[in-house]
Amino acid sequence: MPGSAIGVPRAGLLSSRPSRSSPGSVPQAITTVRTLQDLRARRAKWRQDGETVALIPTMGALHAGHLSLIAVAKGHAKRAVASIFVNPTQFGPAEDFVHYPRDEPGDIAKLAEAGADLVFAPELAEMYPPGFATQICLPSLANDLCGAARPNHFDGVATVVTKLLLQTMPDVAVFGEKDYQQLLIIKRLVRDLDLPVKIAGGAIIREADGLAMSSRNVYLSPAERKTAPLLFQTLSDMTAELSLGEGCDAAAEAGRFRLEALGFRVDYVAVRDPETLLPLTGPILGPARVLGAAYLGRTRLIDNVTAEPKAR
Ligand code: AMP
Repeated sequence: MPGSAIGVPRAGLLSSRPSRSSPGSVPQAITTVRTLQDLRARRAKWRQDGETVALIPTMGALHAGHLSLIAVAKGHAKRAVASIFVNPTQFGPAEDFVHYPRDEPGDIAKLAEAGADLVFAPELAEMYPPGFATQICLPSLANDLCGAARPNHFDGVATVVTKLLLQTMPDVAVFGEKDYQQLLIIKRLVRDLDLPVKIAGGAIIREADGLAMSSRNVYLSPAERKTAPLLFQTLSDMTAELSLGEGCDAAAEAGRFRLEALGFRVDYVAVRDPETLLPLTGPILGPARVLGAAYLGRTRLIDNVTAEPKAR
């Protein structure tokens, strides 16, 4: 039902600059669709025209980290579709689904400015009609690290991402390394289910003081905001120690101790294989991923960095 599509000028909402994706071109409208039928109609037209499509799934409350993924997407495909859907099934009962920040008009304006071609913003009933009963689970990957503290979180993520991929049928889908475990889970599920889509990762975008951008950073009090970059700092210091030959367990323990001393309530600090996320022990012999999750007050922060052994 094309009548439900909403057109918003691509440029001029945030500034008078034209879209970054098409410098010098006449600003075009970005369209928001809310139904699978409208999404598929757009997708079919692009396929007919021989145009490749990238999908960028988001939960909205967009910041520069999300928008960087549009640029990554545009490097892979002609058209970029961003989805905005706050997915209830990936929130635990005591988590912030109701209070999760929402700003759809602002998000659409930012996506237009960033050069996205289409916004898919379905209603809850469009994604989960009455009787919905299917779940995608990857227990070996999903119950570890963030999944240990957030039971069913990655089942909710895997299920909604599988739906979004099948709804959009993109050539490529882009996910941020900020959610590193999520990125690996999605790569795994795409391989396991033979989904015909390439998964691309985008680097973590940070504030000037190193804090990884997150929609949830708005929850931080001024004092917590000052402490928050020390998560990144601590993980980065761990990579320096690891590269000099410190053992993974000792480095993780020292990182946890330091974060607790700084006032964080630590969920985990871990040094893992960057492809499988399996635990590493002893000094690192090749690339490793250092991951951490910790609370400041009620806000849960996550971050990760790469570590390499020092070249000899
Ligand atoms: P979310 O809206 O939190 O579900 O995030 C949507 C996508 O944006 C996910 O693929 C995230 O990994 C990615 N993302 C979130 N924050 C950042 C960031 N600071 N840098 C890069 N990507 C990010």
